Amino acid sequence: MLHILCYHRVLDKPDESNWPYFIRGTAVTAEVFEHHMQSLSTHTEVLDEDGVISWLCGERVLERPASWVTFDDGYRDNLTVAAPITARYGINPTLFITTNTLRPDWSLPVDSWYGTFTRATKRRGVFEGMGTTPWCFDLDDQRTQQRLTDGPEKRAFVRADAQQQASMLTQLSAIFCPAKEEYNDYLDKHDLKTLEEMGWLIGAHSLTHISLPSADTTKQREEVLGSLEAVHSLGLRRCSSFFAYPDGAHNEALMMRMRRWCSGLHGALTVEAAPTTQTSLSYAMPRYIPPNDQNWMQTLWSTTSSTLKHWTSQT
Ligand SMILES: [Zn+2]
Repeated sequence: MLHILCYHRVLDKPDESNWPYFIRGTAVTAEVFEHHMQSLSTHTEVLDEDGVISWLCGERVLERPASWVTFDDGYRDNLTVAAPITARYGINPTLFITTNTLRPDWSLPVDSWYGTFTRATKRRGVFEGMGTTPWCFDLDDQRTQQRLTDGPEKRAFVRADAQQQASMLTQLSAIFCPAKEEYNDYLDKHDLKTLEEMGWLIGAHSLTHISLPSADTTKQREEVLGSLEAVHSLGLRRCSSFFAYPDGAHNEALMMRMRRWCSGLHGALTVEAAPTTQTSLSYAMPRYIPPNDQNWMQTLWSTTSSTLKHWTSQT
């Protein structure tokens, strides 16, 4: 049994510029991350991608539960904060990048959304003009923070196409009047080479992080093959043999196309809180998104060992 973990950001602590990632569950602190890596090393056999492939192919037998650490998106903190910690534990993760983040002028849509209010110069007022009933916002209030991070407006934004997203961002800017300076928090080519030297493998996570099942076939093909091509052209010694679906979103039709388009791949990764077995579908391998809770791993191991005991007693 394999537990695949999917991290996004590892940050020192929540602050004015990054709190939405903690609310959304896509950031953990360096301290929590260190606890997680320690717990993995103690309770599991931590595999790298080659180890995972050998096990999937039946060439490797696991003596105890195993784990594989992966990262999505391509944030710079993966190198500056996470990599020194994984190196201390001899852990070699695979990182799946949204390849348009390599462009200096491009941001992940969700980062543009969060950036509008984390750089706000107007902290209180009325939120209106985005298709929902007007409501009063106060950026220092947790309910406002929660709604902006995971509420109806944000969910509509994630589902929207690029053009609609651009107009929603204009409306959002009119509400919050963000300070002008933008920051680029992504890894560049040079950073990816450094990570490779530290034992990381780099893979693809689409070009623009769109929801693939809602795109037409031409767009899907462009996003999947275009990002794989972008990773291959980085000049790294080798690349990951997996693809990570943006937000884990996939369906049967996409999985069938992936098999046809990507003959060089071993499979693709989703996000679903479940362990992977050798009979799991290779184009729908589940991954856990660990929360910012240092005791979470302990809970996972205790649930898993009771599942294992139950399974053993049934067979
Ligand atoms: Zn992602």
